[in-house]
Amino acid sequence: MEKDWMDLNVLDETFEIVIAFDQSGKILFANKAAWEKMCYTEEELYECNMSKIFWQEFQQENGSYDPFDKGKLLGKKETVMYRKNSSCFPIELRLFSSKNGTDYLLAEDITWRKNMDVRIRQLKEEEETNRQMRNEFTANVTHELRTPVNGIKGHVGALLDAIEDQEQRKTLEIILFCCDNMSAIINNILDFSKMEAGEFVLEETEFDFYKMMDHVIATHMAEINKKELRFSVYIDENIPQFVIGDELRIVRILNNLLSNAVKFTLVGQISVDVSKAMQVNDEVELFFMVRDTGIGISREEQDNLFQSFKQVDASITRRFGGTGLGLSITKQLVEMMNGTVHVESEKGKGSCFSFNIKLRTSGNAGESRDLSETYQNWSNLTVGMEQEHQEDYTTFGSEENKAQIKRRMEKLLLSIELGAWDKAETLAETIKALTESPEGNMKKEILRMEMGIRKENYEKSMAAYEQVKAVLTEKWGKW
Ligand code: ADP
Repeated sequence: MEKDWMDLNVLDETFEIVIAFDQSGKILFANKAAWEKMCYTEEELYECNMSKIFWQEFQQENGSYDPFDKGKLLGKKETVMYRKNSSCFPIELRLFSSKNGTDYLLAEDITWRKNMDVRIRQLKEEEETNRQMRNEFTANVTHELRTPVNGIKGHVGALLDAIEDQEQRKTLEIILFCCDNMSAIINNILDFSKMEAGEFVLEETEFDFYKMMDHVIATHMAEINKKELRFSVYIDENIPQFVIGDELRIVRILNNLLSNAVKFTLVGQISVDVSKAMQVNDEVELFFMVRDTGIGISREEQDNLFQSFKQVDASITRRFGGTGLGLSITKQLVEMMNGTVHVESEKGKGSCFSFNIKLRTSGNAGESRDLSETYQNWSNLTVGMEQEHQEDYTTFGSEENKAQIKRRMEKLLLSIELGAWDKAETLAETIKALTESPEGNMKKEILRMEMGIRKENYEKSMAAYEQVKAVLTEKWGKW
């Protein structure tokens, strides 16, 4: 086929190799991409036989070529084409036959794609090695951290048993609380790295459900009391005392949700509800709800909440700390226990995190319950949570509300004087929540105070503080 077949010239414009050949493999036409890529001149290529270009398919051991047989190229998607200098490059080819005995070959040079494949494979291997190293490192570091933290906890516990002085006990309790926080972070990191490595498995044992709840609640009581939050617990009595599941991980889920609830609630109430959703034979489904009246989460922010390392915004990290791992781990753990986790929340109003999990009951399920003394203690807490009392607590101007505001104002003054701006910001927010009244005339002063504190401006904060205090004194008389 001659080049004077003019309409084929357009094929010189394509990057794809186009070759027309007859049944003996003689090349009748080759476009510019073909001879350029194979480093032949146009004339040289017309002297070539297809079998010489496709060595892989046609070369014999003695260096000569098998006679051309297009059947060897048919159906083959990927092969290599040889250049004049005997080097080769990978291609993806398609063959088309015409009625007049001429066949057409279209080939795409896939060197770039192959290189990318190799590079991607290399990167994946590197990533896998890095991931393994990271996981090993995390496992080692968390183990190294856990040992001293447990040591401190043990010694502080022993001191607490021996010391009666209230001030010293308070300090020790703070140390214990800090240790518990650290343990929680270490455990979350450890679980996260195991999940990443695909090595995470649940460990199921039989345990006393009520004792477990007792333990979880006891862990958070000190902080709840310190923040002067109200607290209620409701546990469905139909839940069997002994269940089979991963106790440690259920504790972790609850700890993650409860510590967030406590952390993000400045004023108001936290409640924990557990009910039995259903029981079929030895399988029992439990439904947990952790509610708070804290800072809340907007609709948009809720979308990414369960992703690793996600925190709602940087100012929250600055004020409240945290790693952004808790909820992602919580979600994964709940799903491993055949459940789902949900959040309902409104900015400024509070949040409700709920989840369900499936556990098995043990042979002990039907036995009468021996509720521990402590369980009885916190179960009584619920009694104190009458709605009436709750309203009294938040109603602006009620005795309880006045006492709260005064206490927080004193702490706020101290924080401003010490330049503890984060703490002052939190306190100012609490005071704002506590002074919410239908008249709303406090709002302006409090906002001004908040602005001063956010700007870490001592004079402005103090002036606004005095202003707020004056308005309150005007309402309630001298402090
Ligand atoms: P962190 O360790 O930072 O608390 P989490 O995964 O537990 O990580 O939570 C992620 C983010 O979700 C938090 O930084 C916070 O912004 C938001 N959040 C979680 N729980 C609550 C809650 N009860 N109230 C308000 N915000 C919450």
